[in-house]
Amino acid sequence: MNNFSFIPELFSAKKSFIICCFFVAAFFTKGIAQKENAYFFSVDLNEVKDDQLRVNLLVPKIKAKTIVYNIPKIVPGTYSISDFGRFITDFKAYDKKGKELVVNKLDENRWEIQKSNKLKRISYWVEDTWDTEKGNFIFEPAGTNIEEKKSFVINTFGFFGYFDDMKLIPYKLTFEKPEDFYGSTALIAEKSEPGFDTYSIDSYVDLADSPIMYNVPDTTILKVGGADVLVSVYSPNQKLTSEYVGENIAEILEAQRKYLGGTLPIKKYAFIIYLTDKPSKSGMMGALEHSYSSLYFLPEIDPKYLTQSIRDIAAHEFFHIVTPLNIHSEEIQYFDFIEPKMSKHLWMYEGVTEYFANHVQVSYGLLPPEEFIETIRTKLNQASAFNDTVPFTIMSEQVLGKYEDQYGNVYEKGALIGLCLDIRLRELSEGKYGLRNMMLDLSKVYGKSKAFKDDELFDKIVEITGFPEIRAFFTKYVEGSEPLPLKEYFAKVGFIYKEEAKINEISMGNILSGLALDKDSNFVLQEVENLDDFGKKMGYQQGDIITKINGDTLTLETARELLMGFPAEAKAGDTLTVEVLRLKEPMEEDEEETNENGEKVLVVLQEPVEVTEKTEYHIFEGMENPTEEQIKVLRSWLFAEEEE
Ligand SMILES: [Zn+2]
Repeated sequence: MNNFSFIPELFSAKKSFIICCFFVAAFFTKGIAQKENAYFFSVDLNEVKDDQLRVNLLVPKIKAKTIVYNIPKIVPGTYSISDFGRFITDFKAYDKKGKELVVNKLDENRWEIQKSNKLKRISYWVEDTWDTEKGNFIFEPAGTNIEEKKSFVINTFGFFGYFDDMKLIPYKLTFEKPEDFYGSTALIAEKSEPGFDTYSIDSYVDLADSPIMYNVPDTTILKVGGADVLVSVYSPNQKLTSEYVGENIAEILEAQRKYLGGTLPIKKYAFIIYLTDKPSKSGMMGALEHSYSSLYFLPEIDPKYLTQSIRDIAAHEFFHIVTPLNIHSEEIQYFDFIEPKMSKHLWMYEGVTEYFANHVQVSYGLLPPEEFIETIRTKLNQASAFNDTVPFTIMSEQVLGKYEDQYGNVYEKGALIGLCLDIRLRELSEGKYGLRNMMLDLSKVYGKSKAFKDDELFDKIVEITGFPEIRAFFTKYVEGSEPLPLKEYFAKVGFIYKEEAKINEISMGNILSGLALDKDSNFVLQEVENLDDFGKKMGYQQGDIITKINGDTLTLETARELLMGFPAEAKAGDTLTVEVLRLKEPMEEDEEETNENGEKVLVVLQEPVEVTEKTEYHIFEGMENPTEEQIKVLRSWLFAEEEE
């Protein structure tokens, strides 16, 4: 999973409905005709009632006299409690004569059915999570969306459940759909006709791993190393196309293929992308990974601002095909959707995945080394917001409880653990063996259906890499509470790393943290609390719209150069000139006059620059005379071609 913060509010679809008796009847005939012992689920996407869909289930053979039907409390990849049962109403169970059986609701997510040896079918209504009035919003990529006649996001675990001890029998899904709708998913439909799709799935675990998005399609297929990669985009105002996304991720997918040794462990993969023109109710946007697909909930903004985010997030989600898909513990293999045990190894599932998503880009020249180092600095900065002394394995095991607020660190310190391990392996192997080799070797030992025991992983890594020294790394920095030995490890690749240092700097007034974009993409100084002495001398005021810096117009395109470039290049004796638009003040003599129209005047702020001392965090400097060994490890770390 991966997310970035945003702002809330959504739509609400309401429409009257007609029960489609014909379809229900047709379905049951069909279901009964098939002798196979399986769950037969059906949903009619044409039949939306009060923003809900009806789910019908013809049950598999049940011998027990009472049985419990479960809808997940939690699903893999989210590391938080969702309680999908909250969204289910009007739960009914019937015998073959159509007589209702007694149902006791045990808790939010479980229904106990009496005389279940007579149970024939179940039906209930499902409300979507995206715009529910129930609050406690679920991260949208893990939720469900019902938008009549427009789009349906079917995270299957939000609609379909399982009986106790009956997760591993087949599922048959039937969707009736508007004729022009297409189901975007990594599943391969057993049958697909206009208005109708059926899917056959081996077990609940595989079903829960397979989201489907239904709408009028915009799809593109990419070929990556023998795999078909489906890119499906729902953009309500047609701002982004699947073709554009495809062009933008093709390069990185190709780099990922090489990174994974030339072939991919998949035949089909789906990027399912829903863009929203409304703020997010959960306050987050991002994506959730599955074994053969990933589902995105992102803002429908100008593609040029969305592209890098999509690339970064897509790279992260796609790399989950390595872990947890092909390398995971028993806790994940036999995931308990009601009372899950968490694995100790989030450092690997999320941390290594996040590290790979950045590292692949520098390895194949898609990201310059300086920018890669900047991404490391960002992680170091963001990791400092978390508790560095909680051992990562313990945080991971208790991430649903005590350490819930530490989860975000899997993308920061988790990635840094991956980075340090990569450098250490490359040092020990004189540049011949890195973290990606280790993960590839692990995926040969384990696999989609072969899990490791949580406690054996570190020793197994020692065994397959042949480096006993690595055990001490895990003991101290992953199982233990020692902070990562960053200074020592960055020295192995020829960098002097300082946690903080005083540097001389030419200031623009320390305005960056106070700047925000308004709806017309103007740069507005919203806060002036952090202005330094030079900023105060310049005379910035709250609400100033900065239009020009030293004569150059400030826009989204020029911002980086103007705001970062000046302090880097200016020398003592230069002058800083900033033009701002400022609300015109009422004339002092005439107190009656106000400025209700918000009339603005141009004000020129100008001062000779000053050199000031500032504390900078996480500084990297290249060593003046690195040894040959350091250069070797550095090259192996940053440039994939030289590795072989
Ligand atoms: Zn992830």
